[in-house]
Amino acid sequence: SPDAPHPDAPVAVELDGVSKRYGDATAVDDVSLRVREGEFFTLVGPSGCGKTTTLRLIAGFEEPTVGAVRFAGESVAGVPPERRDVGVVFQSYALFPHMTVGENVAYGLNFAEPPEGVTRDERVADLLELVDLPDAADRDPESLSGGQQQRVAMARALAPGPDVLLLDEPMSALDARLRERLRAQVKRIQSELSITTIYVTHDQEEALAVSDRVAVMNDGAHEQVAPPRTVYRRPATRFVAEFVGDNNVFSGRVRDAPADGEVAVAVDDADETLRVGVANGPDAIPEAGDRVAFCVRPEHLRVAGDGDAVRRGNRTENALRATVASAEFLGETTRVTLDWGDRELLVRTVDPLDGAVTVAFDPDDAHVIDVEPQ
Ligand code: ATP
Repeated sequence: SPDAPHPDAPVAVELDGVSKRYGDATAVDDVSLRVREGEFFTLVGPSGCGKTTTLRLIAGFEEPTVGAVRFAGESVAGVPPERRDVGVVFQSYALFPHMTVGENVAYGLNFAEPPEGVTRDERVADLLELVDLPDAADRDPESLSGGQQQRVAMARALAPGPDVLLLDEPMSALDARLRERLRAQVKRIQSELSITTIYVTHDQEEALAVSDRVAVMNDGAHEQVAPPRTVYRRPATRFVAEFVGDNNVFSGRVRDAPADGEVAVAVDDADETLRVGVANGPDAIPEAGDRVAFCVRPEHLRVAGDGDAVRRGNRTENALRATVASAEFLGETTRVTLDWGDRELLVRTVDPLDGAVTVAFDPDDAHVIDVEPQ
């Protein structure tokens, strides 16, 4: 795909029409994807969407019901996990409590010989250096913080020099501050080794922060596979628009033919026509009578005083009169929920808001998600 950040790198891991069913339940539904060498690829989605099952299929803990998993172009059907050249880190660190940190990492070497001219001890020291725990070899794993234990688990997974690193929610047991630090470290380690990494998380912010590309999953299937900025700025579906970051999603009917790169949309269940830019939408340009869905990020809704016209040049912009319903102070900004008729709008502000307000957006800041021809 033209969106791939390593478009010329060989394909490291490929899923080709993979489905996994358990009885009547479909955990993974016809997923195809190609992860390239050195790529940091993330599967993100709500609980139960099939992320972990996808990772287990890649690791070899499960076999697909339909479809093929390939490593470097070769099918791995029937190849057990220990022969797939993958390192796996799970949510629970699962370090051996009766071994030192160094012994835990050495265990990861298994029967793999360290590189030529390097002793096992040196290899363990190098790995602990890599995960920024150079002095921890003799420590008891239980004396380490959760984040440190998870880094030891990474060192252990990396010990045999796997081709692919698989991370299943490795941070979900940690508190928010530790998670942020650990994700920066995971990213650093990944780029230092240029190791192909497939990462599973339900946390969309984490996914945007660390990935080269993100696959947003829903109900066993991929809704969008793209770099973080594309997923955020150009969500391909309503699900992606609402799952990734805060958003305001509108639907309605196009009133007349596009003019000046914009269409006028009569919004459903609201006595309002809004102007929407069509330049950054899907390939289908909306026509009069089509149904469309579009979204506007909270940071693109600008707040004016009650009843103020919001203008750009000599044109009045899309202005919506609303009232403040609630506010969450987030530090740098406040996330404010507004009542707009029967609906809610989300805005981000620096100054506190109260009572009646007018918010407005530039048509070019609206993103068309979906066009349904008349
Ligand atoms: P979570 O974030 O909660 O771990 P997930 O996105 O990783 O969710 P999966 O664990 O892959 O989702 O599960 C996807 C679906 O498949 C769920 O509905 C789950 O109940 C079902 N499922 C997974 N494993 C099995 C199994 N061994 N037997 C039956 N159903 C299963």
